[in-house]
Amino acid sequence: EAKQETYQFKTEVQQILNLIINSLYSNKDIFLRELISNASDAIDKVRYKAETEPGILGDDTEFKIQLKPDAIKQTFEISDNGIGMTYDEVLENIGTIAKSGTAGFLEALEHAKGQETLIPELIGQFGVGFYSAFMVADKITLVTRAAGADADQAVKWVSAGDGSYTVEAAEKANRGTTITLDLKKKEKDDKDFTEQWTIRNIVKQHSDFVNYPITMEVERDEPLPDEEIIKDKDDKPIGATTRKVMREETLNSMKAIWTRHSSEVKDEEYEEFYKHLSHDWNPPMERLHLKFEGTTEYDALLYIPSKAPFDLFTPDRRHGIHLYSKRVFIMDDCKELMPEYFRFVKGVVDASDLNLNVSREILQQDRLVLNIRKNLVKKLFDLLGKMDAEKYNPFYDEFGAVLKEGMYTDPASKDKIAPLARYKTTKSDGKWVSLDDYVKNMKADQKEIFYITGDKLSALLNSPHLEKLKEKDYEVLLMTDPVDEWVVQSLNEYDGKPLKSAEKGDLDLDAVDDAKKEAYNALFGFIKGHLESDVKEVKPSSRLKDSVSCLSGNSGDMSAYMEKLLKASGQ
Ligand code: ADP
Ligand code: MG
Repeated sequence: EAKQETYQFKTEVQQILNLIINSLYSNKDIFLRELISNASDAIDKVRYKAETEPGILGDDTEFKIQLKPDAIKQTFEISDNGIGMTYDEVLENIGTIAKSGTAGFLEALEHAKGQETLIPELIGQFGVGFYSAFMVADKITLVTRAAGADADQAVKWVSAGDGSYTVEAAEKANRGTTITLDLKKKEKDDKDFTEQWTIRNIVKQHSDFVNYPITMEVERDEPLPDEEIIKDKDDKPIGATTRKVMREETLNSMKAIWTRHSSEVKDEEYEEFYKHLSHDWNPPMERLHLKFEGTTEYDALLYIPSKAPFDLFTPDRRHGIHLYSKRVFIMDDCKELMPEYFRFVKGVVDASDLNLNVSREILQQDRLVLNIRKNLVKKLFDLLGKMDAEKYNPFYDEFGAVLKEGMYTDPASKDKIAPLARYKTTKSDGKWVSLDDYVKNMKADQKEIFYITGDKLSALLNSPHLEKLKEKDYEVLLMTDPVDEWVVQSLNEYDGKPLKSAEKGDLDLDAVDDAKKEAYNALFGFIKGHLESDVKEVKPSSRLKDSVSCLSGNSGDMSAYMEKLLKASGQ
C-alpha cells in the first residue's frame, strides 16, 4: 500500500508562491512557457545522460512534449519523456525554490569538463517556473518516473498551492513527467487554456523554437473512405463525406537556428526563419549571424529586409528584435536592443544570462543589454560599410532616410552614419554620391560642401540659387528627404569641410563689385518699398547668373523646404 505523506511548503516558498500567483506574472500565458521549458530541460538532461548510458532510453527514443487540454473536465495536461524524478528529487526540486535542480545539474556538468560538446543547452535556471502554473491552476498533480526506474517506482505530487503538498508512490507506464492542472474558474477577461487556438498561439509565440516537438491532438475533418459514404442510385453521396478525427499535430517549428553555427545552417533555413519572424515574403537583403563568447555571451541573428515596410515612419510601429534567453522567448519588439535608426532590422537576440522575468524598465538600464546593443550596432555599421555600391545603393534607396535620422537623434553615432549617407548631386546624373566622393571631387578653390534642400529633385536642379555655383563648376548636394533638414542642423561639417546651404545667407563666392552696388541702390530701395512686409532686405547677389532675382534666407533661418514641411505638419 502506497503511503501518502503531507509536507508543508517552506515559508519562503509559500511567500514566493503567493507573489507569483498574485503579482509577479501579469501575463498568465507564460505558465505554459515555463512548463514547456521544464519539459525541454528534462529531455535535454536525459539525452545528455544517454550519451554515457545508452541503455537508459530503452525504446522510448522519440522525444516529445505533449499537450492535452480537456474542455469538459477543465484540465490541462503536459507530458514529457524526459529524465523524470525520483521520490527524493521531487521533494528536493518541487518543494523548494531557489534550490534549482537545473542549477545543480549545471554544477555537476562543471565536473564533466572536456565533454563540452555533450553539454546540452539548458533552459531556465531561475527556479520559479514550475510555480507559475498556480496562476492558472487550483490544483497541480505531477506524476513522474525517473529514467531507469520501473513502472511502479513512479511518484505522485499534488498541491493546491495553499501551504502544503502531498507525495506518494505511484505507477506510470513510461519515463518522464506528466503534469495535470485543474484550471481555475475563468474570470471574465481570462483566456480559455483548453481552447486549441489559444494554446497553439501561446506555443507559437513563446516556445516556437524549443528543440523538441510540442504536440497536441487536434480535431480535423478528414474525408470518409469511399466504402463508408452512403450514395444514392446515381452514385451521389447522401449525407456526410467527411468525419471528425483527432490527429496529433506539432505546434512549434523547433528551429532555434540562431544557436547553431552559421556553417551548419542552410540559406533556405535562414530565409524560412526570416519569413516566420518578419511576415515578409521577400527574401532578406542581408543577414548577420553572430555568436559572442566571453563575459557577455549571446547569439544574435539579424536581418536587413529587402523592402521597407509600409509603416516604417509611423511613430508606434513595432521594432523587429525578439529577445530570448536560452531559446526561451522573453519579448518581441525589444526597442532596447536597437537604436531607432536601425528600426528596420529584424531578428533574434538570445542572451543566456538574462533573467526570464526581466521587465522593460529593467532592460533599459541593464548593462548586459546595453553591451549587446553596442556590439550589434557596431556589427551593423561594419556590414553596411563593407557593402559595395551594387549592394549598398538598393539598401540606401529603402532605408537611407531612416539611417540618416541617427545623425540628429543620436549625435554620438554621427561619425558612423555620415560616411554612409548618400546624396544625388548637380553632377551625379541621378546616382548616389557619398560625402567622401563629394570631397574628393571638390574644386581646388572650393572650401565648403554646398547643399540645397527641397522636395523635388528637378526643382532643385533648376533652382536659381545654384546658378553661380554651377558656373564655378561646384557640385551641390540635392537633399530631398524631409530628414535632411534636421541632418544638416547637426552635421555641420564633413572631413573638415563646413556644410553650407546654397540658398541661405551670403555665399562667399566672388565679391560683388561696390561700384555696381551703388548703381542699383535706388532700384533695391524701390523694390524693398513695395515688398516691405514680405522681405527683410533686397541686395545684390553673387549667387545668380542668368536669373534676375531669387529669394534667400539668413544663414540661421529655416530653409524654404523646412518652412513647407512645418506648414504641412500643421506647425
Ligand atoms: P528551474 O526550471 O529554473 O529549475 P522550475 O521551478 O521551473 O525551476 O523547476 C524546478 C525544478 O523542478 C527543475 O529544476 C527540475 O529539477 C524539476 N522539474 C520541473 N519540471 C520537470 C519535468 N518536467 N521533468 C523533470 N524535472 C522537472
Ligand atoms: Mg523552469
